[in-house]
Amino acid sequence: MKEPVVNLHNHTPFSDGAYTIDELCEAHLARKDVKVVGIGIADHLFCTPSSREVRSERDFERLFGRETREYIAMVNQARERWEGKLQIYCGAGINWQMNKHVLGSIREMLDGIDYVLCESVDWAGLTQLANQARRWPCPVGLAHTNVASQFPNTSMDQIVRTLANARVFFEVGSHLLPLDEHDPWFDILPNHRVSVCIGTNTHDDLSCLDDLGELHAYVERHGLGEKMFIPQVLEKQALPA
Ligand SMILES: [Zn+2]
Ligand SMILES: [Zn+2]
Repeated sequence: MKEPVVNLHNHTPFSDGAYTIDELCEAHLARKDVKVVGIGIADHLFCTPSSREVRSERDFERLFGRETREYIAMVNQARERWEGKLQIYCGAGINWQMNKHVLGSIREMLDGIDYVLCESVDWAGLTQLANQARRWPCPVGLAHTNVASQFPNTSMDQIVRTLANARVFFEVGSHLLPLDEHDPWFDILPNHRVSVCIGTNTHDDLSCLDDLGELHAYVERHGLGEKMFIPQVLEKQALPA
């Protein structure tokens, strides 16, 4: 029997992806090799347009508050359309280098976001993230991260303990293929309380979905199947009559 797979890293035209949520759902459900039971939309949010400088937190909220609410509404509508067929999660992709100075404002805007994927986090960033991880309103993970090249001066043991203490999950993604090259890291990971997720970072080429079977098999082979991070979708609050 095919085991259930969740792909938490997909972009749509809301940021720089080419396929709509509905198209992504159809493509995932059409897979013959794996049984996809859920997908996460993780569009880049809070990307400061270079034409405008953000000078204050209020500026930031004015620029991105509405965008974020529109994004969450779009994903929620899709979630309802696909209910019973495919679970849709509402993630947010955050570029660490671009946003490391406005994380306080960002945390205020995440109501309705099920998880955050941080990209381009260096070691200074990871320690900063670890220090404040429990202040985030939703789970936080590291996406397309290659520990060997991204944290070259830090031991894998220290990295994995930092992730575990901060409850930061780690993406097993297409960017790491061929995965065997990362065995040293994935041999350590299962010994610590670090959750993992699967992500293809889908942008404009659906052939990345071919990777899902391999990513899933690798996770299982390394004893990480029990440590899969699955976002919690909060029940919609009933509106007062
Ligand atoms: Zn992108
Ligand atoms: Zn991405």
